[in-house]
Amino acid sequence: MDLVLLGAPGAGKGTQGALLARKLHVPKIATGDMLRDAVRQGTELGRRAKQVMDAGQLVSDEIVLGLVRERLASDAAEGAVFDGYPRNVAQAESLDGLLGEMGRRINAVVYLEVDDDAIVRRMTGRRTDPETGVVYHVEHNPPPAEVADRVVQREDDREATVRHRLEVYRENTAPLVEHYRRAGVPVHTVDGGGSIDAVQGEILGLLGR
Ligand code: AMP
Repeated sequence: MDLVLLGAPGAGKGTQGALLARKLHVPKIATGDMLRDAVRQGTELGRRAKQVMDAGQLVSDEIVLGLVRERLASDAAEGAVFDGYPRNVAQAESLDGLLGEMGRRINAVVYLEVDDDAIVRRMTGRRTDPETGVVYHVEHNPPPAEVADRVVQREDDREATVRHRLEVYRENTAPLVEHYRRAGVPVHTVDGGGSIDAVQGEILGLLGR
């Protein structure tokens, strides 16, 4: 099963994608996570991507395609949940091509809808424990006392950058809903404003799981 999660940054794709991937027994391909790993490891690719990411822009299609191609040939040879990829129509077309070569296609799209103000509140409150990678939220899920001193805010979760990322999303990524509809791929729209469990339950219901 190959599934694309669409939705603005902060709509919950990472959280829902991880749960779905476990349920569907396929890996999650999150290009944002892969790029952040490359930045942490200080690779050449990471150095090229960092400035672009910190500014809330999209890194080049070519870099991202290289990352995805490797995964499709390794752990994601049987299917994947795509989170944060594709990010524009060109990426969607190259993904369609890559999957086509393997006799695969996107089976479904889950589109998580959340309004902008809720997204800004979610993202600006987000904090990550750099040692474990666990993500907290200052209001909804505050970090426990023993990790509170070391949690960090993602550079691109600052408010001005979040607003810019929402614009980039609207211009580049939102049109993918139409792209997939036109291609005849089922697009399931889900209200992403509910609790993690409620949203997951709705997604699984729509996917018939
Ligand atoms: P995310 O974790 O998905 O919100 O991604 C964080 C940042 O990584 C984005 O703002 C982009 O700069 C970059 N990024 C992640 N995925 C992609 C992609 N598919 N295409 C281009 N840039 C991406």
